[in-house]
Amino acid sequence: EHIANQIAAGEVVERPASVVKELVENAIDAGSTRIEVSIEEGGLQSIKVKDNGFGIEPEDCETAFYRHATSKIESGRDLFQITSLGFRGEALPSIAAVAKVSLLTASSDDGKGKLLEIEGGKLMVNEPAPSGRGTEMTVRELFYNTPARLKYMKSIQTELGHISDAMYRMALAHPQISFTLRHNGNQLLQTLGGGDLLQVIAAVYGTSAAKAMLPVEAEDPDYRISGYISRPEWTRANRNAITTIVGGRYIRSGGLNAAIMRAYHTLLPINRYPLLVLKLDMHPSLVDVNVHPAKLEVRFSKENELYQFVEQELRKVLLGENL
Ligand code: ADP
Ligand code: MG
Repeated sequence: EHIANQIAAGEVVERPASVVKELVENAIDAGSTRIEVSIEEGGLQSIKVKDNGFGIEPEDCETAFYRHATSKIESGRDLFQITSLGFRGEALPSIAAVAKVSLLTASSDDGKGKLLEIEGGKLMVNEPAPSGRGTEMTVRELFYNTPARLKYMKSIQTELGHISDAMYRMALAHPQISFTLRHNGNQLLQTLGGGDLLQVIAAVYGTSAAKAMLPVEAEDPDYRISGYISRPEWTRANRNAITTIVGGRYIRSGGLNAAIMRAYHTLLPINRYPLLVLKLDMHPSLVDVNVHPAKLEVRFSKENELYQFVEQELRKVLLGENL
């Protein structure tokens, strides 16, 4: 069981940014409206994620760290019906196997919470502790017991870059949630919540970028897309500034990216990229998010239809600007 967790950890926990992503996704699944992430030394020293979600029931705290104990999947069919971000019950056991984790949580407002401490998969502390409603998960000394993995970590700046990127994408995917990111005490991101995507774009890319955005809003019988694309004259985006969101999750799809770039490049030189945040809504049966454990990649069942629709609608928005 312990070895299984360490092996699974290799897939789920590639680097500090993977921990941040898994913990924040859990906070989102818990219905939080405010999520604060504080990291030290690129996340290698510590990662703390505090939320105001529904918390974990006292009797469920320990089992949350057992492999698959909490998997929300009941049958193979459910893979196509996933609405929450977590669904494999693998993240917490994997993280706890390769770090020192503490969990402080309460599921009611009576101040009666629980504190758990787990080191390298071993439960050290499990006791009542005062806590406001919500969850605070702290992960210290990631990979302290897997030196081979630790050796692969890059510089603090590189790890921080991956963490910020993950945080930006999650904030863009969830404008209704207020996100804070601090590194060594310095605030790097603050979104307000309340659902204003342009405010999140301003927080992530700056106010001048937010001013350069055109709204995208379209639907056909199968798909609905909404978001913002930068005006053709905005030249400051790089190839990383495309964020596509499906089911509340930042996803990567080569086919979708190609469609976006076809729309953009019918009008603009090929060395230029748009700043784009695009949310795609569709019936869960039209998308399979279980292609990869990191859940970044998806498979669309009517992919060519989707790509054509996105290309055509983006082109309309860009052309509407009378190039
Ligand atoms: P998954 O998200 O796939 O269910 P995880 O290992 O990420 O598995 O989390 C295990 C379980 O712990 C979750 O299903 C959830 O019940 C609980 N949990 C974890 N983090 C939180 C949180 N921040 N707030 C409430 N419950 C949480
Ligand atoms: Mg999870």
